[in-house]
Amino acid sequence: MSKIAVYPGSFDPITIGHIDIIQRVSKLYDQVIVLVSDAGDKNYLFNSSERADYVRKCFEGQKNIQVDIHRGLTIDYMRKKNAQVIVRGLRAVADFEYEGTLANMNYRLAPEIETFMVFSRPEYYFISSRGVKELAKNGGELKGLVPDFLISDLEKKLNPKKP
Ligand code: ADP
Repeated sequence: MSKIAVYPGSFDPITIGHIDIIQRVSKLYDQVIVLVSDAGDKNYLFNSSERADYVRKCFEGQKNIQVDIHRGLTIDYMRKKNAQVIVRGLRAVADFEYEGTLANMNYRLAPEIETFMVFSRPEYYFISSRGVKELAKNGGELKGLVPDFLISDLEKKLNPKKP
């Protein structure tokens, strides 16, 4: 049976921190599915197909990394795909509580599925989608935080007056 890990998140937009987690995990599993969430009640900057396209563009040619969009419970998607592991990333202590609650909720719903936490590398520890959007809005330097191809799209959306 092939080992499938699912990395769910908003990825609004994907950052270098997410990319590092995905690359590291892709060495451990036969397949990694980056699952872009489409929660109708969240205020996203990019819609789900834009967010998924950006993720896809980061991993072109890497056959064991796939991208999908999902609305609903991650565990329902996982059961459909026969995936065994949920991957999440951990940065600061602040992530710990949220991620612990989520992992235990998922354990309660689907005890056969394991949550696998991956620590951020120190150089990516401070990177978040929210921080990146805040920087873009205020004209901060985005290089090294998101893939280069995303920089102008972010600036166009959030800071259209920037020369
Ligand atoms: P969500 O909306 O589910 O929090 P995100 O796209 O913000 O989705 O993040 C998805 C996962 O990636 C979360 O587990 C988050 O903690 C983790 N993550 C985000 N940024 C980083 C980073 N720089 N390093 C490691 N993990 C990260």
